[in-house]
Amino acid sequence: MVATIIDGIKIAAEIRAEAKVEVDALKAQGIEPCLAVIFVGESPASKVYVDSKVRACEEVGIKSVKKTANTDIKQEALLALVDQFNDDENVHGILVQLPLPHHIDKNAIIERIDPAKDVDGFHPVNAGKLMIGLDCLAPCTPAGIPELITRSGYSTEHKKVVIIGRSNIVGKPLMNILVQKGPKANCTVTCCHSGTEHLEKYTREADILIAAIGVPEFVTQGMVKEGSVVIDVGINRVDDLEHSRAYRLVGDVAYDEVKEIAGAITPVPGGVGPMTVAMLMKNTVKAARMINR
Ligand code: NAD
Repeated sequence: MVATIIDGIKIAAEIRAEAKVEVDALKAQGIEPCLAVIFVGESPASKVYVDSKVRACEEVGIKSVKKTANTDIKQEALLALVDQFNDDENVHGILVQLPLPHHIDKNAIIERIDPAKDVDGFHPVNAGKLMIGLDCLAPCTPAGIPELITRSGYSTEHKKVVIIGRSNIVGKPLMNILVQKGPKANCTVTCCHSGTEHLEKYTREADILIAAIGVPEFVTQGMVKEGSVVIDVGINRVDDLEHSRAYRLVGDVAYDEVKEIAGAITPVPGGVGPMTVAMLMKNTVKAARMINR
């Protein structure tokens, strides 16, 4: 069996197109959705992410406001910047690009964002609502995963899902999304992590296996059940002198060997990555709608 390749670029474009329809409807009511992005420092990787978010906003008609701060910005000044956007009624979404410099308390910044504008879905209010199944702004990367699976023609209903990784950004929220009763969820979820013994025992049982580890090509063929859906969240740079940038991107799954036995698989790049930005557009539209309700 050779796996079907799940096309994250195509599905993300569909989602951005849906967001654009919603943006146009809001504009017709006199509401211009607006995302504020706060970028601290000069990390080239973060700059690429921020630029792609701003570009996506332009494409779907969301206004974006970008504030760049120097790496040595004081925590109080960063909190004041968040407050400024919290108080601005023309701003509907606030995103602080992570990671932040070490002297900044990341949690204090996240907790300062008005939960109604927390389009990254990292605020404890949104994390709590997600866990108890209330409507909320869910983190973009995990929220995109059931979309990728179901829009490719696979069901999540009654499936055994194994997630590798328990981060607050991917693993834990994904667990809370997929365990809920309802469409695009209703799974039996196992969350494995660095403390899991005999990991393969779990992964080999998975109908849907999701890797969010941050270790290049960690998931090998022997860890995967034949015919399963494999979702690779990882984005890792590995040295490659043959490449013009001297590195290439690989996922957490050994793609070439796993695609030989999986039923479906996401590539890296071109799988989960584009969905994150598309879901951010959806969240910004949702925040604008909820704030103006
Ligand atoms: P993280 O470092 O916060 O978490 C990694 C998790 O992997 C941890 O919970 C840890 O318990 C688990 N882990 C580590 N080693 C393990 C092992 N040997 N066995 C089992 N579990 C192990 O990382 P994260 O923020 O969740 O990101 C994970 C990966 O996903 C990274 O490659 C990151 O770049 C990528 N990512 C991609 C997107 C996207 O938009 N596609 C978004 C967020 C993160």
